[in-house]
Amino acid sequence: IGRYCDQPEMFPGVAHFHTVRVNQPAGKFYTSEYLRKLCDIWDLRGSGLTNMHGSTGDIVLLGTTTPQLEEIFWELTHDLETDLGGSGSNLRTPAACMGESRCEYACYDSQQMCYDLTQEYQDELHRPAFPYKFKFKFDACPNGCVASIARSDFSVIGTWKDSIKIDQGAVAEYVAGKIAPNAGAHSGRDWGKFDIEAEVVNRCPSKALSWDGSKLSVNAKDCVRCMHCINTMPKAVRIGDERGASILVGAKAPILDGAQMGS
Ligand code: SF4
Ligand code: SF4
Repeated sequence: IGRYCDQPEMFPGVAHFHTVRVNQPAGKFYTSEYLRKLCDIWDLRGSGLTNMHGSTGDIVLLGTTTPQLEEIFWELTHDLETDLGGSGSNLRTPAACMGESRCEYACYDSQQMCYDLTQEYQDELHRPAFPYKFKFKFDACPNGCVASIARSDFSVIGTWKDSIKIDQGAVAEYVAGKIAPNAGAHSGRDWGKFDIEAEVVNRCPSKALSWDGSKLSVNAKDCVRCMHCINTMPKAVRIGDERGASILVGAKAPILDGAQMGS
């Protein structure tokens, strides 16, 4: 992305300060060797400043000059075997959560889908042919770790068709204070005793849950799979077994206003 100073005579050191976007690996898995090589290239040919990762999802390398661009492209693609990232009115910027590689909530293989579509649409990724950018991103469950709805026009979100699974024994342990809610994320804050009614049942957005003092029940047809009860009591509530994905295809007008059919 070309960046030029409009007063180059006054600031010759930043007369050019181009941004380079580099394609991220699916799930953002790196080896330390790869990161060292990437930083070596950028120390030699750019400012050394990086943004890991930019809001678009790519690795963002900040600040280089025009004569370095071809050199950087060659070294990234030939030495690091890494593709350039997305910019302009093309199909971009593929991003996937870590999905099945690490996460128990994954409802489909988000990394594989991201990789397959990246390969399938190489031409559209590299040769801007659209009137405006079009992005695709892949979350393997509704927790949305890559925020696919907010950040893309083609959002794939893992979900399930059957009911959430409830382990009543584990529910009792949460209620008795034997297991910390939210996997202990809020430990140390004085929020008082865990209150399943207030913190889980009343916060279900579709009122699908009920608590009779000893048993947590769900009306499966009302559950909108928001993940709240699962995130609050991960040892007691699990995602369903009949897993797949919802595909939300829409279009975003410039910036965040305008048509957002995918949302
Ligand atoms: S989006 Fe869901 S499946 Fe993917 S990493 Fe986040 S919590 Fe796990
Ligand atoms: S996943 Fe969300 S909508 Fe479904 S029962 Fe739990 S809190 Fe309610």
